Amino acid sequence: MNLDDEVRAELAALEAAHRLRVPRVVDGRQGVVVRVDGREVVSFASNDYLGLAGDKRIADAAAESLERDGMGAGASRLVVGNHRQHVELEAAVADWMRRPGVRLFNAGYAANIGVITTLVGVGDVVCSDELNHASIIDGCRLSRARIEVFPHRDVSALDSALARSSGRRKLVVTESLFSMDGDEPDLVAVAEVCKRHGAVLLVDEAHAIGVAGDEGRGLCAAVGVVPDVLVGTFGKALGSFGAFAVSSESVAALLWNRARPFVFSTGLPPSVASGNRTAVRIVREADSLRRNLHARAAQLRMQANVGGAGVSPIAPLVVGDDAAVMRKTEELLGKGLYVQGIRPPTVPEGTARLRISLSASHTEEQVARLAAALS
Ligand SMILES: *Cc1c(COP(=O)(O)O)cnc(C)c1O
Repeated sequence: MNLDDEVRAELAALEAAHRLRVPRVVDGRQGVVVRVDGREVVSFASNDYLGLAGDKRIADAAAESLERDGMGAGASRLVVGNHRQHVELEAAVADWMRRPGVRLFNAGYAANIGVITTLVGVGDVVCSDELNHASIIDGCRLSRARIEVFPHRDVSALDSALARSSGRRKLVVTESLFSMDGDEPDLVAVAEVCKRHGAVLLVDEAHAIGVAGDEGRGLCAAVGVVPDVLVGTFGKALGSFGAFAVSSESVAALLWNRARPFVFSTGLPPSVASGNRTAVRIVREADSLRRNLHARAAQLRMQANVGGAGVSPIAPLVVGDDAAVMRKTEELLGKGLYVQGIRPPTVPEGTARLRISLSASHTEEQVARLAAALS
């Protein structure tokens, strides 16, 4: 067999298992009404929680920088690619998040890999929630630290794992708002357990930044927890691209030296950094968007039997069977409603689901239409 024959067999096996993924094509601007495969639909599929991905003010800031600064950063920031726009964005995030150390990354995926591999290595232990995002899993694996996976949101299991582990350094990693379940760990309890065991805490706030907390600072800020490192992304509620790690100044300085996805990768385009700075300004002042978002989430939870807790804009509806969930997606699409079906390995076996995500731009009527279509 040659490579293409082997690959075709692998693709056929994915298709037979209802696991083949084929992306649809979007035209034009992202928004709650979006053109997908040539047809206008109401989208409940993006992570654009505040409706900022298509925002003109952010695009204008990027366009102005693009005109002036050109397209490329030219090199890694450690070489000659450290543009004024990067430095100003890091300062803006530091001011927003009220912590002195901020390091940009090219994506949340890169941030988790960079932060985890910087913090732990051979001889250390990393405790990771079983439903943590793939980028956290990959960071743990690449770090070569011993990995202790603890049951979802189970603080007492985490406590025991920390008690029996004898790593030189212990790192605990959790999301603050879980991407496929829309639920939250008890961050206060997690922080307390970390403190008791002298463990370092990393919280991935990818889905909570912009959505929760005063000025959208996230769930840690909302409950008064200051993790050693917090990871946030510009790709979700901030409507753009790129990511950041927030920490003490010394940890940020170490990331500058050791985080390989940072050291060995070209810096973000200056225009993206400029657009992100405008996104930060907008998100800080976006209380009315957050109110809309939380109202739509509460409405959907009242009108349909979906999961997710608190202010979560993520509302899963677990179907179980892979083929059934994809049929449901097609059926909703037929009604002009785009809800993404999510299958393993993104979620555990037997828990294929519709992942409904809400936006501040959804109207009450659109959410009611979805609820009616689901029941
Ligand atoms: C989306 C996501 C990331 C990755 O962020 P990107 O900026 O899209 O690469 C990291 N962690 C979690 C929990 C996510 O959901």
